[in-house]
Amino acid sequence: MTKITDHIKAANGKPIFSIEVIPPIKGDNLKNLLDNIEPLMEFKPPFIDVTYHREEYIERPLPDGTIQKIVTRKRPGTVGICAAIMHKFGVDPVPHVLCGGFTREETEDFLIDLHYLGIDNALVLRGDPAKPFSTFKPKENGYSYASELVEQVANMNRGVYLHEEDTALAPSDFCIGVAAYPEKHFEALDHDIDFHYLKQKIDKGAHYIVTQMFFDTKKFLDFVARCRQEGITVPIIPGLKPLSTRKQLQILPKLFHLEIPEELRKAVESCENDQQARQVGVEWCIQQCRELTAAGAPVLHFYTMGKADNIMKIARELF
Ligand code: FAD
Repeated sequence: MTKITDHIKAANGKPIFSIEVIPPIKGDNLKNLLDNIEPLMEFKPPFIDVTYHREEYIERPLPDGTIQKIVTRKRPGTVGICAAIMHKFGVDPVPHVLCGGFTREETEDFLIDLHYLGIDNALVLRGDPAKPFSTFKPKENGYSYASELVEQVANMNRGVYLHEEDTALAPSDFCIGVAAYPEKHFEALDHDIDFHYLKQKIDKGAHYIVTQMFFDTKKFLDFVARCRQEGITVPIIPGLKPLSTRKQLQILPKLFHLEIPEELRKAVESCENDQQARQVGVEWCIQQCRELTAAGAPVLHFYTMGKADNIMKIARELF
C-alpha cells in the first residue's frame, strides 16, 4: 500500500482526485455505497477516506416510566468498508482514527488490525462529541486531543508500543494525516492558538493535513500561507464539498463553522428549486478547484456525503 505523501510525490505537481465516504447507517447495504462511488473510479482516485462515527447515547422510555440509556452506533463498519474498497477497487483506503470512544489500548489494537489488513494510512482526529452531548469527553484512559493520538501512532512507527517498552516489537509504518480548519476550529479562542496546536500535531509526527470544507478559496490560500510562515511544511489537502441544497446555506455554517461568500449565497437564494441550487454548487466548486489547481494544491479531496452525481460533474470538468 502506498502512503498518501508518496501518492502526492508521484503525481509530480498534478493535482490528485480523491474522495471521502461515510459508512452507511446500520442495516443499510454496503453494495449501495460501493455502487455509488464506482463511477468515480473513472478518475482514478489513489486513495479514499472512510469516516469513523463514535457511539451515541439514546434514551428509551420503559413501561415502568423510567428511562433506559442505550449506547448505540449508527454508522459502524469503517474498517470493513476500508477492506472492501481496497479489494474491490484496488484503491488505498484511509480510515479515520478517533480519540473519542477509545482507550489507548483499544486504539493500539485498532491500529494493529489496520496494519494486519495492509492499511498503513490513517487520518488521526479527536472526533466529534458523542451525541447528544455538545462537548467532547474522552473515554477514561483515552485522549482529549488529536496530538496525543498522533504521538501514539508515531511511537508505534518507532516500534514503541504502550506497555511493551522492553520488548523488540516490529514498528508499524503509518502515514499520519491530521485535520485543520481554514476558518478556525470552533473551540479555539483565536487563529493563533489553533495554529499553535496544529503545529504541535505536525511536530509530534503527522505527515500531511486535510482541511475542513470552505467556500471561499482565499481563506484556504491564506491558511496555507500562514502554515508555511509557522514552519509547517507538510502537504496541505483542501477538503471540498459542492453546496447541494438551498437549506445548506443555513446548515453548513452551523455544523461546520464556516462562512458562505455573499456571491454564492445570493446565487443559491435566487434558485427556484434544489436542482438549480445543486448546479450552482457544482459550478462554484469547479471554480474553486481551478483556483486551487492554479495555486498548486496537491490533491482535490471531495466530501461525497453519500451522493456522487455532483462530484462526477465536477471531476469530468477537471480530471
Ligand atoms: P484537535 O486537533 O484535538 O483540536 C480540537 C480543538 O482543541 C481545537 O480547537 C484545538 O485548537 C484545540 N487543542 C488542540 N490541542 C490542544 C491542547 N493540547 N490543549 C488545548 N487545546 C487544544 N469527526 C468524526 O467524529 N469522525 C470523522 O471521521 C471525522 N473526520 C473528519 C475529517 C476532516 C478532514 C475534518 C476537518 C474533520 C473531521 N471530523 C471527524 C471532525 C473532527 O473530529 C472535529 O472537528 C473535532 O472537533 C476536532 O478534531 P481535531 O482532530 O481537529 O482535534
